[in-house]
Amino acid sequence: MWLTNLELAFLLAHHALPPANSDAGCPWLHKGRCTARAGRAIGCRVFHCRMAPERMADISAAFTREVQRIAEAHQIDLTYAELLESLAALRR
Ligand code: SF4
Repeated sequence: MWLTNLELAFLLAHHALPPANSDAGCPWLHKGRCTARAGRAIGCRVFHCRMAPERMADISAAFTREVQRIAEAHQIDLTYAELLESLAALRR
């Protein structure tokens, strides 16, 4: 799951950095449910949605544009990284 640095900051503003999961999955996944729903990234919000792929793509594109707009407004350089790798880097 890839996300921007802005989405990662948003996620961690809502949910403390958890310890790594022993099964190497997302540490916010418990008993098949996401426990980070308030702060989850765009990819998390549209993945597995039961809607037409075109609609998911439209929603993802719209929110990605919004992330880009926020980044530009605050002069933040957007970077993309894989979620679990980003969390591991933060724990080091
Ligand atoms: S939706 Fe995202 S944050 Fe939630 S458990 Fe899945 S990968 Fe983790």
